[in-house]
Formats: sequence, structure tokens, C-alpha cells
Amino acid sequence: MYENMKNKTILVTGAGAGIGNELCRQLAQAGANVIAVARSTEQLKELRSFSPSIKTLQVDLKDWQQVRQTLATVPDLDGLVNNAAVAIIRPFTELTEQDFDNTFDVNIKAVFNVTQTVLPKLKPNSCIVNVSSLAASRSFDGHTVYSATKAAVDSLTRSLALELGPRKIRVNSVNPTVVLTKMGRDNWSDPAKSGPLLAHIPQNRFCEVQEVVDGIVYLLSDKSSFVNGHHLNLEGGYSVS
Ligand code: NDP
Repeated sequence: MYENMKNKTILVTGAGAGIGNELCRQLAQAGANVIAVARSTEQLKELRSFSPSIKTLQVDLKDWQQVRQTLATVPDLDGLVNNAAVAIIRPFTELTEQDFDNTFDVNIKAVFNVTQTVLPKLKPNSCIVNVSSLAASRSFDGHTVYSATKAAVDSLTRSLALELGPRKIRVNSVNPTVVLTKMGRDNWSDPAKSGPLLAHIPQNRFCEVQEVVDGIVYLLSDKSSFVNGHHLNLEGGYSVS
């Protein structure tokens, strides 16, 4: 239970499934005012049934104007979590223009748009957490487009940490290795593929959803009050192996 999240107002994108969904549930249980953003009305209904305190907004993040209009209505915020993303993992030679555009539209253009839209609502001492990936800084087979978008997310994180610091808004990212959500299962369930990667992780396992949620909440909280422009790698020591 995250006692320091009580009464904090936090907007989370990609709230319908995976990491974002679990984050919304745990923040609501901790007494935060959660604004959950997703494109599926069914998933948002489920979140409201879980906790009627969760406010929901239905948006396709690829739609620039819809994001602007819908998110303009949000109240003052203590935190923004840019979590939604897509992962199209395919050999470089097979990736299409549409794959490129889809991935960039959701993973970085929408992060830029959402952040710019809600910026006037971010209070002093609030923070932004971008859900990036270890793939931002390390190479994995088939990850060319996905990795490029996450490298862009890390770059945006550092640039905004600089620009928004004087407004007392901190900006950080969490950068997990594989997490076995739908996205992780889709791409890493084959032992022939996951085995060599696991062999490079000293803890010899992938990241748990709870470990990502804990990292995000740490960065949202006052416990990280002097952490700004930082990428919190959640990778069990992969980078030192
Ligand atoms: P999921 O696929 O489970 O969740 C991604 C969420 O993003 C979904 O709710 C999805 O909605 C939403 N989303 C995608 N496109 C849009 C859109 N156009 N408009 C609105 N919402 C959209 O993945 P994870 O929970 O695993 O991923 C969460 C974050 O963690 C992502 O940023 C991902 O890159 C990052 N990450 C994940 C890793 C993993 O192995 N799982 C590893 C490292 C980082 P919908 O259900 O409608 O498609």
C-alpha cells in the first residue's frame, strides 16, 4: 500500500491493460485520485467497477486533436504517467512504413502531445514518469523501430527534466527489461528466444509487473524529490553482465 499516494491526482495512459492497469488499481487502493486513459470503453468500465473512484477518459492516443480536446478537461495533477505503447517486433527488412508510423505515433508523438496538453495542469512539485524500456539503450533482435521510439522517450525525458525543473516539475523514466504482460508474452514466450536473454540477466528472470509499479510510484512520490532526468533501469543487472 502506497500511503504517500493518498489524495494525489495521477493521470495514467495505457490504463486498460498490463502495467498501466495494475498501476491504476494500486493507486486507487492507496487513496489516489486516478484518471485512467485508454481507448477501450470495456476496459475502462472494468476499472470503474474495480474502484468507482477511478475517473476514466476514452481516447485513441494516435488522434492528436482528440487527445487535446479530451485531456484539456483534466483537473490539476500531481503526476502524469506516460505508459501506453505498442511493440511491433519484426526483422528490420520486414518492417513497413505503417509499422514505423504506428509505433512512433503512440510511443513518442502521443507522449509529447499528452505531456504538452496537460502541462498547464501539473502542479508545482508534481512529476512525470515515462515508461520507457531497456531497449532504449540496448539492442535486441527485431526491435529497431520500438527501440528508436524508446530512445526518443529517454531523450524527451532528459530535455523536459531540464526545461520543467525550474517549474518544480520532475521528469524521469522507468526502463524495464521484459515484463510478462501481454506485450511481453507476445514477444518473449518462446524459450528459444527468451533463453539467451535470461542468460544475460544475473538474476535469471524477467521483471514482474509489481516491480515496475513500485518503480513508477517511487518516482511519483516525494521519496524521489531530488531525482530528475533519471532513467531507472529495471533489468536485474543485465547492463553489468
Ligand atoms: P500492454 O500491451 O499490456 O499495454 C499497453 C497499453 O497501451 C494497452 O492498454 C494499450 O491499449 C495501450 N495503447 C496502445 N496503443 C494505444 C492507443 N493508440 N491509444 C490508447 N492506448 C493505447 O503492454 P505493457 O503493459 O507491457 O506496456 C506498458 C509500458 O511498458 C509500455 O510503454 C511498454 O513499452 C513498456 N515496457 C513493456 C515491457 C514488456 O516486456 N511488457 C518491457 C519494457 C517496457 P489497447 O489494450 O487498447 O491496445
